[in-house]
Amino acid sequence: MTTQGVTVVGGGPHGLLHALALARAGIDVTVLEARPPRTTGSPRAMTFHWSMMQGLDRLGILEEALSRGIIHQVWSLNVLATGERMALELDVLAGDIEHPFTLHLPQEQLGEIILSRLAEHAHVHLEWNTRVQRLVQDSDGVNVLADSPDGEREYRSSWVVGADGATSAVRRAIGLGLPGVTWPERFVAANLRYDFAALGYEVSTLQLDPTDGALVAQIDDQGLWRYLYAESLKLPEETVGDRMGEVLRRVLPGGPLPEIEAYAAHRMHQRVADRFRVGRVLLLGDAAHVTNPTSAYGLAGGYFDSECLVEALSAVIHDGAGDDILDRYSEVRRRVFTDLASPVSTESKQLLWNSAKPGRLQGEIERFRHITASRARQREYLLVARGLQSAPLRSRRPSAI
Ligand SMILES: Cc1cc2nc3c(=O)[nH]c(=O)nc-3n(C[C@H](O)[C@H](O)[C@H](O)COP(=O)(O)OP(=O)(O)OC[C@H]3O[C@@H](n4cnc5c(N)ncnc54)[C@H](O)[C@@H]3O)c2cc1C
Repeated sequence: MTTQGVTVVGGGPHGLLHALALARAGIDVTVLEARPPRTTGSPRAMTFHWSMMQGLDRLGILEEALSRGIIHQVWSLNVLATGERMALELDVLAGDIEHPFTLHLPQEQLGEIILSRLAEHAHVHLEWNTRVQRLVQDSDGVNVLADSPDGEREYRSSWVVGADGATSAVRRAIGLGLPGVTWPERFVAANLRYDFAALGYEVSTLQLDPTDGALVAQIDDQGLWRYLYAESLKLPEETVGDRMGEVLRRVLPGGPLPEIEAYAAHRMHQRVADRFRVGRVLLLGDAAHVTNPTSAYGLAGGYFDSECLVEALSAVIHDGAGDDILDRYSEVRRRVFTDLASPVSTESKQLLWNSAKPGRLQGEIERFRHITASRARQREYLLVARGLQSAPLRSRRPSAI
């Protein structure tokens, strides 16, 4: 039987956010997630860009997220060699947006908040330990076949949303690749116990250096910090941990090294699928596009995909709109990635890990001196991220999202 519902494949941040937005829009939703519930894996995303705050508020989860996380308004740029500090101050946006701050919160904690809200909706079903293997679509709906603890199970719905991350099985099942580039460095995200604040690091600091560029960010008020750096892909991945002490010793003063709580190493890409829709199957978040993590556009970009897709699916399901609105979703959101999210993230990646190009870092430092010296220029620079949110596909978005 086909319902007018949606199957969301993947219960990562975007799958869960999308499920909540669909539920609030009155659409039946089933989430299929390969992992067991409440896994605490390796370090993942923790910076929620200011541009997402309004959306989290619309979904009714901002207040709780803020009460659990760290809120901050200053992005500091610290030149390691000279000690020079420049600051981008988010309060310059106070006249433009309601929430001029960024939130630090481990993504699994946001997941917990969303799960508690999903539990309030009777028309939401969550299936853990359920790994989607393939799907078959016809003119009325889609059959999704998944391995579950009870063996192979089949789920049928009118629409499927692939939110199953960069290696998306859904994307492969609809015959799409993820063309683009892979950077020659891997990034290493380490969760450390160390008092970076005592050394003058802001809650969010970009440490600028040709060798030791890093993103340093406070995770909680219990002394946990994220140190995100890069190294050549030519170095063996198995020995990342062996090299970490040396990386930290180069930048920190003498004395005991930080306690390393956990770390994860990943390759970095700028990649995007050719389309985000094939028939009744749609892609969002990392399943549709991946970017390096230096701009925090991974979560924000996927969030705005979700907002746009809920508008499109609501129009089709509730208002009988033609399904060409789903093609518009695909075109509009793909363009936001290729024209804004990817180039801006590429720029911030090169600021932090500025490759070998001589003079590039000095040029960037001079550019940021110029930007940070004026509140008007800071505002202009920061507001570029507004473009992550695409214009409504119709004249007005449904109020539920
Ligand atoms: C270490 C690290 C730090 C990062 N830091 C930041 C940051 O601070 N800010 C930021 O904006 N971005 C950051 N990013 C990027 C950000 O994590 C991603 O953009 C984001 O997680 C993408 O969310 P997603 O839900 O689209 O995909 P994912 O997070 O990859 O979630 C996909 C989900 O689908 C499930 N799944 C996969 N295959 C199947 C299947 N076949 N069947 C069912 N379920 C399946 C997976 O188990 C997973 O739960 C970081 C990335 C990394 C690796």
